[in-house]
Amino acid sequence: MNRKPFIAGNWKMNKTIKDAIELINGLKRNLSDIEYVDIAVCPPFTALSDAREILMDSNIKLGAQNLYWEEEGAYTGEVSAVMLKDVGCEFVIIGHSERRKYFNETNEGVNKKIRAALSVELIPIVCVGETLEQREQGKTFDVVKDHITGALTGLSNDDVLKLVIAYEPVWAIGTGKTATPEQAQEVHVHIRKLLSELYNEETAQSIRIQYGGSVKPENIKELMSQPDIDGALVGGASLKLDSFVEIVKGSS
Ligand code: PEP
Repeated sequence: MNRKPFIAGNWKMNKTIKDAIELINGLKRNLSDIEYVDIAVCPPFTALSDAREILMDSNIKLGAQNLYWEEEGAYTGEVSAVMLKDVGCEFVIIGHSERRKYFNETNEGVNKKIRAALSVELIPIVCVGETLEQREQGKTFDVVKDHITGALTGLSNDDVLKLVIAYEPVWAIGTGKTATPEQAQEVHVHIRKLLSELYNEETAQSIRIQYGGSVKPENIKELMSQPDIDGALVGGASLKLDSFVEIVKGSS
C-alpha cells in the first residue's frame, strides 16, 4: 500500500505570535515545492489565526494541539472542534502523552475528542505509546492496545480511515532518546495488526502511522526506511526552521 509520508510539527506551548509568523514564513519559503510529503504545523491556539493567513493556499497545513469535545457552552478555557475548523485547522493532535500525564486525559476523553473532531471533518492525529516503566515491564503491546481500542471505541470503518495515528513512546519524547527504527517498526506492525483485527486488513494498510519521539534531521531517514513508519510527529525539532525543513526533506 502506498501511503504518502506525513510530517507534522507539534510546537507545544512555545512561540509568541511574532515568533510563529517568522517560523511559518520561513517554512513557506523553504518547503513550498515539496509535493511528495504532506506537511502540517500545530502552533499554540494564540498563533493559529495568523498562521492561517500565511498558510492560505500553501502546501503546509494547519493543525491544533487539543480540543474539547462539547460544541459550545460554559467550559471556561476550552476550545471546540468548530472553533478550530473556523480558524483554518485541518488537523488536531489528540491524546498526546503530555495531556494524558499533566491534564488527566483518559481513553474515554480521547474517544470523545476524536468523535468531535470527525464531526466537523477535522483529522485527528491520535497519539499512543508506553512509558519507560511500562516498556521495561514488557507491557508495550498491552498499553498500545489499550490506547488504540479505547480511542477507537464505537468508530466505524469510514471514521477510522480518516485518522492518523502517532506512535510516541513516552520515554523518547523530549528526552533525546529515539526508539531505534526496529523498535518503532515492531510497534507500528503491532498497531496495524490491531487495526486489522478491529476493522480489516485494507483499513489497517491504509492508515498512516507516524513515529514521534526525539525525531531529528540525523535520524529521520533511518526511521522512514522502515516499511510501516509513514512519517513523524516532531516536537522540539519542529521549533527551528533548519531542523524541521531538513526533517521534511529527509522523509521521502
Ligand atoms: C511530541 O511532542 O510529540 C514529540 C515527539 O516531541 P519531541 O520530538 O521533542 O520528542
